[in-house]
Amino acid sequence: MPLNTRQKEILSTMGISLWNARSDVPELGSFTEQVSSITDVELAEAECLPEITENIVENLPPSQEVPSVVDWLQLQAQVKSCQACELHSSRLNTVFGVGDEKANWMIIGEAPGADEDRQGEPFVGKAGQLLNQMFISLGLSRERVFIANILKCRPPNNRDPKLEEVVACQSFLDQQIDYVQPKVILAVGRISAQNLLQTTETIGRIRGKKYLYRDTGIPIVATYHPAYLLRSPLEKRKVWQDLVMAKRIISGDCD
Ligand code: URA
Repeated sequence: MPLNTRQKEILSTMGISLWNARSDVPELGSFTEQVSSITDVELAEAECLPEITENIVENLPPSQEVPSVVDWLQLQAQVKSCQACELHSSRLNTVFGVGDEKANWMIIGEAPGADEDRQGEPFVGKAGQLLNQMFISLGLSRERVFIANILKCRPPNNRDPKLEEVVACQSFLDQQIDYVQPKVILAVGRISAQNLLQTTETIGRIRGKKYLYRDTGIPIVATYHPAYLLRSPLEKRKVWQDLVMAKRIISGDCD
């Protein structure tokens, strides 16, 4: 199926290159078919993907107490001065989060990397640039979503967060979610998805479905991390499907 100009623009903002299939090179034809299947989803003609309204692990620990009224500035100050885990001693900056604090979309990544630690802002490196492209493809921008991480401080050498670090940071994230009240949470990457959903499942098995964040009733969609997409660009089509599902949740099409 030939792509129209709008469809080509969308794929291009996602960083998906379009090749013209030549009749003498059959493999290119199959790649074009993959791209066509994305646009089918983009056109939102497809049914919603299978939905799960309970989290994977049935005996979830109860949510921590979330203050009903959060003073956003006070929360920022608390994060800035936090010394609850060992990461405070190696950080250059805390990374609170950025964007519209009343956004419909809340994007939750893993933890700051070196660039984020230096600048005090999430997703400012190469993965962040791809994340920005993903927003653009949805008609959004970085300013219109809220972006945060499971951890507010960088783990040395970008190692995986330790359980005690996640636990120490949990209340900050819960207060942010409580304050922002997003219509959907997009968990990007395995670490984010596993922690938010309290599971050890692989991201490949978690993605493509809708969950709820603990007892908040806020839907979560999990997808691959943009850093992974930089290494495996063909997986962008699955991420696109996840983004479309999240968008449909916001517009009430996937309840
Ligand atoms: N990766 C993340 O998960 N978060 C960031 O802020 C940057 C890279």
